[in-house]
Amino acid sequence: MSLIENFLNLKSQIPENVSLIAVSKMQPIEKIKQIYNLGQRAFGENKVQELLVKKNQLPSDVNWHLIGHLQTNKVKQIIDFVDLIHSVDSLKLVEEIQHQAEKRNLKIKVLLQVKIAKEEEKYGFSKEEILKLNDEKYFVNKFPNVIFKGLMGMATFTDNQVQIQEEFSSLKTIFEILKPNFEDFSTLSMGMSGDFALAIQNGSTMIRVGSTIFKS
Ligand SMILES: *Cc1c(COP(=O)(O)O)cnc(C)c1O
Repeated sequence: MSLIENFLNLKSQIPENVSLIAVSKMQPIEKIKQIYNLGQRAFGENKVQELLVKKNQLPSDVNWHLIGHLQTNKVKQIIDFVDLIHSVDSLKLVEEIQHQAEKRNLKIKVLLQVKIAKEEEKYGFSKEEILKLNDEKYFVNKFPNVIFKGLMGMATFTDNQVQIQEEFSSLKTIFEILKPNFEDFSTLSMGMSGDFALAIQNGSTMIRVGSTIFKS
């Protein structure tokens, strides 16, 4: 199938209330432009350097999502234009985003990344940690320049559908527990090429899909 067919076929499987982030990491500009020309505006990158290069080569109305681990010293490089940071995985990072956003008088939208996979995941808050912080109302009123929009998580890379379903469902549960403590908690970013259908069934509002679009 062509890129265009891949994209249209994918779009036909996504309900209207779920948004699609086209993950363009490692893809050439020409291919990304083809998807842009079909109307897609939200693109996701997992590395700051690659994001900066691509941003300069694509139209300015692209909405850039950072989906990979963000080092605190790189916050400055993306804060002026990034649409949503999916991968806020430490308190140090929240503090740095607050600090840089305040300096520039910006409000930055973020998702808190939670570890839901059974495999060793490097990044993200553990379930226990995020629930404890929530109990302590840690995020409430402390970060006036950070808008907590919701959560992001990645399921285990496995064929076991039951396990993936349980992991998504546990993230959805955490999302519902945290929601009352935030003003604008409405985004649950979960689901990739291999598991977006299960993610949507379990309450995802935003899927991040790369290879299903860009495979040829
Ligand atoms: C690469 C990546 C995706 C997309 O993965 P595909 O399997 O290619 O759809 C989604 N989320 C994150 C965080 C990624 O790094």
